[in-house]
Amino acid sequence: MEELPRCRRTSWTDVERWADTVTERVRRAGSAPEAIVGLTRGGWVPARLLGDRLGVHRLLSLRVQHWGVTASRDGRARLTEGLSGEVAGLRLLVVDDITDTGESLRLAREHVLAARPRSVETAAFVHIASSSFVPDYWGEEIPRDAWVWVVFPWNYWEDLRTLAERAERLTPGLEAVRATLAERCGLDVPLEDLRRVRPALP
Ligand code: AMP
Repeated sequence: MEELPRCRRTSWTDVERWADTVTERVRRAGSAPEAIVGLTRGGWVPARLLGDRLGVHRLLSLRVQHWGVTASRDGRARLTEGLSGEVAGLRLLVVDDITDTGESLRLAREHVLAARPRSVETAAFVHIASSSFVPDYWGEEIPRDAWVWVVFPWNYWEDLRTLAERAERLTPGLEAVRATLAERCGLDVPLEDLRRVRPALP
């Protein structure tokens, strides 16, 4: 049976709100990061937005892989590309879009600590309460019994393509795929968007 997760599509307005909330919490804590590490790929946009708000110009990346395509896990989290620069002696903020199992941020924090920064804090725009790792800051918490696949604006087309392919195996045809996504995933998408990701579908 095809796995079709419950989804929540989010907007750039949600993203701005999370960025503002995390920024306010970082400031209120009196924290002043000197560099931000964005996890590839989900943490890049959050890292850039937080850098802008907090006045942090130094952005670095670190690649942790864990989830394959939309809502299908790919074994344990693995670090597949190291830190893109030196962080010794710096106050760091390590950022991801969401903590779900929490493995990515936990692994990233451990890796970064080995590079001898002055301090390391962590942030996620969305934190699922069932995560085994709790970041220092987050923008919104999802209760543990309300797990969803969060469709971030920077992952919309990839998520839609993957989910449409799965729905198509259950119910072929553009209209049927649209109905299945609405029913099974709670995702209402315009037909034009589906046509863009599945141009060959009748
Ligand atoms: P995790 O290590 O399980 O905390 O999740 C690592 C990464 O997988 C996140 O940075 C997201 O890019 C992606 N991811 C995991 N769970 C979700 C979810 N429920 N919704 C959207 N993306 C997710």
